[in-house]
Amino acid sequence: MKKNKRSDVTVIAGCGRLGASLANTLSDEGESVIVIDKDRESFRKLSPSFSGFFLVGDAAEMMLRNEAEIARAHSVIAVTNNDNSNIFIAQVAKEVYQVDKVIARLYDPDRKCVYQEFGIDTICPAVLSAREVEKIMDIGEEAPTS
Ligand code: AMP
Repeated sequence: MKKNKRSDVTVIAGCGRLGASLANTLSDEGESVIVIDKDRESFRKLSPSFSGFFLVGDAAEMMLRNEAEIARAHSVIAVTNNDNSNIFIAQVAKEVYQVDKVIARLYDPDRKCVYQEFGIDTICPAVLSAREVEKIMDIGEEAPTS
């Protein structure tokens, strides 16, 4: 696919606890945000000052439909509660639409390295939580500084 002219929109797939928090922060900072969730009730987590758009539906299907604003987004953050959906959304964003910044939440830490090779940044709650616990307990190895 030809590379689309980029808009300044960030697309967030999944408006759960993490997605809504990110959407509220980005919106407060003046960013343009489109947030997608298959459950209309989830949008209640958006703050009253949220100034972006929200779309009800399956974010993976919406990615495939090549909706103009999604295809032209400069960032896509896939934070549904389903690893397979997040991976699919991230791969379509990166490989089909060539979105600059793509981030996917993965519950399964074993899949992390694979997607980093495709230029998809991954966040893994289990790994991040383990690091925090180790820090509090003062155990484990120090993270490298560079
Ligand atoms: P949380 O685990 O609190 O971060 O919530 C995850 C959110 O992702 C929930 O609001 C779900 O309704 C939403 N979700 C799960 N799968 C999809 C999907 N395929 N498309 C859009 N939203 C989804």
